[in-house]
Amino acid sequence: MKSTKKFYVVIVTIAIVWLILIACNDGSNAGCSHDWGWEINGVSISKKICSKCGEKTNGAIGDTGPAGGIIFYVNANGFDLHVTEITTVTAYYLEAAPVDEIPSAWGKLGTLIPGVASFNVTETPYPDTIGCGNRDTDLIFYYNEHEGLTDTAVQIIKSNANYGGYTGWFLPSRDELNELYKLYVKKGKGSYGALNATGYFSSTECGFNGAWKQSFNSGDQDVTSKDLSMNIRAIRAFQ
Ligand SMILES: [Zn+2]
Repeated sequence: MKSTKKFYVVIVTIAIVWLILIACNDGSNAGCSHDWGWEINGVSISKKICSKCGEKTNGAIGDTGPAGGIIFYVNANGFDLHVTEITTVTAYYLEAAPVDEIPSAWGKLGTLIPGVASFNVTETPYPDTIGCGNRDTDLIFYYNEHEGLTDTAVQIIKSNANYGGYTGWFLPSRDELNELYKLYVKKGKGSYGALNATGYFSSTECGFNGAWKQSFNSGDQDVTSKDLSMNIRAIRAFQ
């Protein structure tokens, strides 16, 4: 083969390989069977990142979260996560733990815990409690501890919940729990997320003796006695 001909063969081969690469990577990484991980931001909204192609995107409802749980609420504009009674930070995601904790009571009868979201059954409309579970879990925890209780829902979550190396889990508020229920419905209920159709306690109080719970069978939110044992699923918020 003449060297000129050899040169053209090389050039044409390079061009073909280049065209194949362009076709497979049109800028949307359509050819990549993505392998998503998380790039945790800590300030603005964290992104999922593909370890193969480097594509970044916001997390979506139903995704596996950084702690290995389920993303069930995303607000790309951010929401106020109540940290204490007077401080909030902006968070973007709520992630449910992959499994339940031990079923447990909410607290003691005849108590009204200062600072906790607390609604009577007749209250309409109910104020939005997205972002309240974190603060309320802490308030209920310290109150219950002071009352000498040792194994209530918030105490079990705060001492035991640790998934994917993450702590800081809390009992979801009424509205946070309902977001998890909405995903459960969307996924066809059943065994999705190892969730229990019987339902769960929320961190939202109802007067001296009750706490709000939600049936994951019917979706109804109603009130049960604080001293009765109910399923609990811990959640966490992150940026
Ligand atoms: Zn990819």
